[in-house]
Parts: sequence; structure tokens; C-alpha cells
Amino acid sequence: MYPDEMKVALMYGAKDIRIETVPIPKIEENEVLVKVESVGICATDVKKYIGVSSCKFPIILGHELAGSIVNLGSNVTGYKNGDRVSANPDMPCFKCKYCRQSKFNLCNNLAVIGYGTEEIEPINGAFAQYVKIPAWNLIKLEDTITYDQGTYIEPFACVIRSFNLAKISPTDSILILGDGRIGLLHTQLGKESGADRIIVTGLSKDRLVLAKKLGAHEVINVQNIDLLKYIKEHISDGVDVVFDTTGVVSAAEQGVQLLAPHGRFIAFAGFPKGQNMMINPRDLHYKEIILTGSFGYGSPMDYYHAGHLIAAKRIKVDELTSRVRPLNGIEEGFIEISELKSIRTIIHPQE
Ligand SMILES: [Zn+2]
Ligand SMILES: [Zn+2]
Repeated sequence: MYPDEMKVALMYGAKDIRIETVPIPKIEENEVLVKVESVGICATDVKKYIGVSSCKFPIILGHELAGSIVNLGSNVTGYKNGDRVSANPDMPCFKCKYCRQSKFNLCNNLAVIGYGTEEIEPINGAFAQYVKIPAWNLIKLEDTITYDQGTYIEPFACVIRSFNLAKISPTDSILILGDGRIGLLHTQLGKESGADRIIVTGLSKDRLVLAKKLGAHEVINVQNIDLLKYIKEHISDGVDVVFDTTGVVSAAEQGVQLLAPHGRFIAFAGFPKGQNMMINPRDLHYKEIILTGSFGYGSPMDYYHAGHLIAAKRIKVDELTSRVRPLNGIEEGFIEISELKSIRTIIHPQE
């Protein structure tokens, strides 16, 4: 059983987040109610808090969640109360052209749990003690995965998408721009994928040390080292794959310049509105470079693979969690991530 009311962190606008008590949501026939045990703060959440991206407020953010089922809609099969789950937060329409092609991340009418934009209606998420989730979106947690580890399934599924687009072969060199949690997840999957040479760039000595521990062969602090010069001196052809996890246009432009013939550039991070990127069209033609974005996940299988690799400890996530805070510590969580004092902060809404 569960109570009638719950605590939530309701965001009313940039730098305006309040802990309030609200009724627990009623579930529809195809939904379940999840008691949220652990939920990660994502860079997209922080962008709303600091005001660089917006949405229709108020909203309860939080889409990287893990918890247990406490109630099931009448049509839900295959799950029972007490099941430990995480969730894919994307709710596609299943009707548009892209959904029919199973490109659910590109759905014309996409709604996302714990997310919204100026255009996309806000859907309340998991910075709350309870959240309702459509059964289609659930992912069962394997026995060996903790709730905190389960919060990495969503971001890691997106990293798997990124790698699938990059089509790594065993002789490939890869360059990962950015040493945040997404950069460090890319680093580990780079090692799993058997890439020949993994180079990670960043601004933080501690994070770059961690990148090395997690599988990078070389790390470059771009505050002290000129990346263009370094790559030209060390890999004359350039790198086969560049993953941009920074969302900084100047870094991305540099990444494209560093591509080898048939190199692939994957724009993982989102970029701010209203900016343009310069590329040399001769590289596009004569080097046959490939530029693509990686937005969200590619197929529901990415979630199953993510959960399995984390449960099997082939991807280490505990070392990426800098802090764990109760729900009323969420604002400190947003601030420490925006000031780069935490790689990742996890919220425990029941505390
Ligand atoms: Zn996220
Ligand atoms: Zn659709």
C-alpha cells in the first residue's frame, strides 16, 4: 500500500524549484505506479534550472529513474507489485511516419516523462516519491543491479545509440570530447567496443585521471594542450570517430576538422538555439566524412543492452556518482553539477 500524497520537487522556472506535497497520480489501464528510490540529475535538467533551456512550467523533472512497482493498471501484464524497474522516458505516438519505422526517438508527437520544451507539453517525472509510467516504457532491473546503478540505464542506452551510429571497427581511433558522465560512459563503451585508441579531452584533472582508469589510452586537458596540434602530431590521418559530448560549437568544429578520411562525427550533446557551425565542405566531399546527431536511444533494445552491461559490471557507474542527496537537496544538486563540482548527483526521493 501507499499513501494518498507525496513529496515532489516542482520547478516553476529557472532557479525556482520548490518541494511541495501533492496527490499521488492516478494510473490509467496501461500504466503502473512506481515508487521512486533513485533518480539521476541529467544535464538537460540542469539546463532548465540555470535557464539556458526552457519549457512550459511548472514541471516535475527527472527521467533517469529506478524504483519498484506499487500499483498496476488493469491492462498491464508481465509485471507485479514489488518488481524493480527503470524506465525509458520517451513516450512515442506509435502512429506517425517515424514511429512506423521504429524510429521512436524521432516521433513527430514525442512526449517525454520528466521533460518538456517550449513546444513539447510537460510530463511530470521522477523528482517525486511516485511517478506513473506506461508499461511499454518499463525495463526490469536484473538482480545484480542497485537502484542507483539503475538510474544509469537511460543515459547509457543513449550512449549505446551513439556507438551504433559510429560503427566502430577494431582498428579505429576514437576521440571523445568532454569528460563529464556522458564522456566517461563513452570511454567505457569505447573500451568494450575494442577501439584501438581512445582519446578523451576535458578541463578537469580529476575527471581525466578517472577517464584513464576507465579505459582511455590518452587524455588531453584542453586548458594546457592544443588539441589540433596534438592530434596532427600523433595521428597524422586524423581520428576515425569523434563523439562530441560538450554541446560547445567551437569544440565540435575542431572535432570535425580532426576527422580522418571516412571519419564519423557524432553530435551526442544538444547545442544551444541560434548557433551555426562551420565545416569545410571539401572535407565532406574529398574525405567522405559523415556527420550525424545522436538523439536519445535508437531502439528499445538499447535499454536492455544498457541494463545488462551495467548489471554485469562491464560498465562501471558507481565511480561516476559524486553525490547522493535527499529530495530537498535537489537544488544543491543542480548547482554542484552546473559548477562542475559533481560528475553526477543522484536524488533519493524517499529520504
Ligand atoms: Zn538524461
Ligand atoms: Zn510518432
